[in-house]
Amino acid sequence: MERTLCIIKPDAVKKKVQGSIIQMILDAGFKILGMKMLHLSKKQAQKFYEVHKERPFYNDLVDFMTSGPVVTIALEKDNAVTDYRYLIGATDPAEAKEGTVRKMFANSKQENAVHGSDSVENGKIEVGFFFAESEL
Ligand code: ADP
Ligand code: MG
Repeated sequence: MERTLCIIKPDAVKKKVQGSIIQMILDAGFKILGMKMLHLSKKQAQKFYEVHKERPFYNDLVDFMTSGPVVTIALEKDNAVTDYRYLIGATDPAEAKEGTVRKMFANSKQENAVHGSDSVENGKIEVGFFFAESEL
């Protein structure tokens, strides 16, 4: 079984679509191991997105991710990383396929409704960023 981290981003929580997104995840066969609603601190958001710190969108991304509450969800499934990224669709909603979470709910390439881990290794690391093993 693989693990992957979902974050329902501030834009989606503001739109009150977190329930719809969680239902899509459950309908796609994922098991929810843990779920937390929290307001990220600037430090947490900077650390979480550290790999992007040289990118031009980094500071805006940190501001956006701290602009309101998020829901972090630890997910488990066979092939979780690839299957969840398929469910959420492309980073830019203009490129996301019909029926994907980002096509349905994203506002823009930045405000794109959800986060998803990009590799099996990062899935484990990112779940660990928000959840102690004893909580799952
Ligand atoms: P993904 O979330 O699909 O893995 P990335 O890891 O490339 O995408 O980027 C992390 C997040 O940074 C994206 O989900 C999005 O919120 C934001 N982002 C990425 N590229 C851009 C961009 N060109 N302009 C604004 N925000 C961006
Ligand atoms: Mg990424």
